[in-house]
Amino acid sequence: MTQQFEKVRALTGMKDILPHESAAWETLEAIVRDWLASYGYRNMRTPVLEHTRLFARGIGEVTDIVEKEMYSFRDALNDDHLTMRPEFTAGMVRATIEHNLLYDRPQRVYCMGPVFRHERPQRGRYRQFHQIDVEALGFAGPDVDAELIVMLARLWKRLGLQDIRLELNSLGQADERAAHREALVEYLEKHIDVLDDEARRRMYTNPLRVLDTKNPAMQDMANNAPRLFDFLGAESREHFEGVCARLQDAGIEYTLNPRLVRGLDYYNLTVFEWVTDRLGAQGTVCGGGRYDGLLELLGGKPAPAVGFAIGMERLLDLWQQSDAVTDTSECDVYVVHQGDAAQRRAALLAETLRDAGYRVLVHAGSTGFKSQFKRADASGAAVALIIGPDELASGQAAMKWLRRQEGDSRPQQESLPFDAIAETLKTRL
Ligand code: ATP
Ligand code: MG
Repeated sequence: MTQQFEKVRALTGMKDILPHESAAWETLEAIVRDWLASYGYRNMRTPVLEHTRLFARGIGEVTDIVEKEMYSFRDALNDDHLTMRPEFTAGMVRATIEHNLLYDRPQRVYCMGPVFRHERPQRGRYRQFHQIDVEALGFAGPDVDAELIVMLARLWKRLGLQDIRLELNSLGQADERAAHREALVEYLEKHIDVLDDEARRRMYTNPLRVLDTKNPAMQDMANNAPRLFDFLGAESREHFEGVCARLQDAGIEYTLNPRLVRGLDYYNLTVFEWVTDRLGAQGTVCGGGRYDGLLELLGGKPAPAVGFAIGMERLLDLWQQSDAVTDTSECDVYVVHQGDAAQRRAALLAETLRDAGYRVLVHAGSTGFKSQFKRADASGAAVALIIGPDELASGQAAMKWLRRQEGDSRPQQESLPFDAIAETLKTRL
């Protein structure tokens, strides 16, 4: 009897990114790093695991994330309460405070990587997903809010994205929100009959968030609720107008969405989202805003801050709907060979081609030319080099173009001395 071992599968909502998919990821990441560098943003890498209380405080107790989406557990060794980061901002702000990064200058920083939320998996919603998180720490003015938005518009353009629109709102300041909140709670009490259980539970703890509902039966109620925007004082309006004026300077269109809220006390002034209709129900690609209260809330010296997070899976999905082409080939040159001595010569030749900057695969495993050529073709290489006993004897390799187009002036196949190959590739590849 042979024993059958159990297959272990990945966790629900946690996806493997396979070699044929990772080319698009790597291309996107490279574009993103260039784009961020062009605005002076520097990379920062914070731990995946943090104390649970960092997120409870930094994101807010009465939020979807903290109430029901966090991967939290007790460290079996010392009983600490730990959480897999569900977003980057709290950890980045913690690190900024811990290392005193704002002591002599403001900071433009970003993180890119996996975050974790226990949600119901569907298109555009996973339990491990990736974010690009960008934070401008220590800047108070509307100029930086606008710069972040302009910067995003540049990325969309660089990626050739279509149908992505900007929604904008202002949350004002705490006292303005308090006045609005009073009016809002009164309004919600009047409409208690249409509120669902979640809304009833939150109407006193986080009433703004009630307006963020996706429940169709509550849309009318939410649309007619008192608008926070109408409670803003002169300074908040001026900040908002400062952002809008700069967006107009840059030719960026936006719509004012008074229901766009982040129901957390430390969020203030500018909030925005970039949304598309091309991704089904999960249409928000990027969300951001100002959170001047967070540094103080996490034990730091008060300092203004503004930032955003992009969902990378959604961005890639959208990008792949445009004409984005990513090179998924395994190599530029595939070397086929026959016999032990030819294999050894092929391995040395490959090293010199790599010196010249080419991606080279030397066939491994003993098979005939025919199946080696099949592999060469499947690898996506532009050219195959052939080294058999004859080539070895003559000191020349046969070079065969695998992807000739009609009317291509390059010869189908030619013989070249080993040391002339790199030069020839340079002129013809
Ligand atoms: P949603 O309303 O879709 O749940 P959110 O308000 O929870 O979004 P943020 O916390 O602002 O989202 O996260 C920033 C971005 O990360 C979102 O705009 C989205 O693109 C992406 N995102 C959020 N949750 C997920 C998820 N579970 N899977 C994939 N991407 C996600
Ligand atoms: Mg969510």
